[in-house]
Amino acid sequence: MRIRFWGVRGSIACPGPETIRYGGNTPCIEVHCGDHVLIFDAGTGLRPCGNALVKNVKIRTVDIFLTHCHLDHVTGLPFFAPFFTNGYKVRIWAGNLMPDSSVEQVMRKLMSSPLFPVEVEIFRAAIEFHDFRSGDVLQPFEGVKLLTAPLDHPDGASGYRLEYGGKVFALISDTSGFPGARDRELMSLARGADLVVYDATFTEEEIATRESWGHSTWLRGIRLAEQAGARQLCLFHHDPSHDDDFMDTLAADANDARPGTLTAREGQIIDL
Ligand SMILES: [Zn+2]
Ligand SMILES: [Zn+2]
Repeated sequence: MRIRFWGVRGSIACPGPETIRYGGNTPCIEVHCGDHVLIFDAGTGLRPCGNALVKNVKIRTVDIFLTHCHLDHVTGLPFFAPFFTNGYKVRIWAGNLMPDSSVEQVMRKLMSSPLFPVEVEIFRAAIEFHDFRSGDVLQPFEGVKLLTAPLDHPDGASGYRLEYGGKVFALISDTSGFPGARDRELMSLARGADLVVYDATFTEEEIATRESWGHSTWLRGIRLAEQAGARQLCLFHHDPSHDDDFMDTLAADANDARPGTLTAREGQIIDL
């Protein structure tokens, strides 16, 4: 399993000289399971991800799994090069949208006047939309198992646990996390995982006044990783106000608290 971070920033893209080392694109993680490509979230990082994908002529099918449909996680969709490529097939998955809503409706709304100049009909790829309930077990390919669970976030979000070839990758973002009502769900995703990518938007000081915003801290991530017996924790969904120097300090503090803890950077590749 190969994991590549194309966007690690939460809330809004923040490119510039102060975020050059950790990156300014919003969430997008590409995971290769053998020949299969699974993309988690479609933030601004999806655009460079798609540009790289279309150059690989051996890949003509990808699956995009959305944690939820807040703008920072879907805004890259209209700029995903495979959509404009004949012969490409893209499946888009999302869980627990409001009744009478669907991931197709969300994408159509995103690409409609006056928000956007062209509609989804401009795409040439075959697009499939799949709605599921958080808690469902998805099997996008033979040998690729994807467990889902609801997360504690405004409008809801889905956490994922990807099992392939004896390895486990968990994505738990966006969530206010441990401790709380969702402990059991978080544990079901993170238990014994090789890598847990976790929402670490805020520091402990910051979250004190933002408890209801649906984001978490690196300390809560470490607590979860410890209790779940996860091998490695990777901090993710960095706050746009945290510049590179701030992130260096945060990363060092987290690594002191749990040696081996990673802090995701745009472009980073992790092989499991
Ligand atoms: Zn977010
Ligand atoms: Zn969100």
